[in-house]
Amino acid sequence: MLVHLLDQQIKKARADGRINRSVRIRFLAYADVIEPPSRPLPGGFDYETCVATFFPIRRCYVHNINQRDCQRNAEYMQQLYGWTSDPRRHYRGQMCIGEATATFGTVGTSRRVDPKWKGRWHSAVQETAEGWAAEVALPIETLTESGMDLA
Ligand SMILES: [Zn+2]
Repeated sequence: MLVHLLDQQIKKARADGRINRSVRIRFLAYADVIEPPSRPLPGGFDYETCVATFFPIRRCYVHNINQRDCQRNAEYMQQLYGWTSDPRRHYRGQMCIGEATATFGTVGTSRRVDPKWKGRWHSAVQETAEGWAAEVALPIETLTESGMDLA
């Protein structure tokens, strides 16, 4: 698995003194690679530094994600179950959930993007001992104004 190999090389570079801080790898479970792993992960896979993000990029926003009579969302829920809850699953780490994407004043929900949309949102960046962290806060009104159905 590419993520594991990358993680091992980063750890080697840290041991050699070429990288002087810890590096976390967030890898995506989406599109063509959204199915949960069908085989055991490599021995020594580090769940502390390698974390999956589940991105249901084509989910239906007309229905709640857990609404079983929506076939598209039901498929996503089945895949999410396979990553996070199935007792026979191979991935045992944390899972971030990705939803809409925001890029400086535009918000895309699913595949609809309105470049004129200017919703309210706030961001902050902080340097930490491990590198840096960014936080983005979106008021609920901003999400509903963007067309997201949060009912
Ligand atoms: Zn639906």
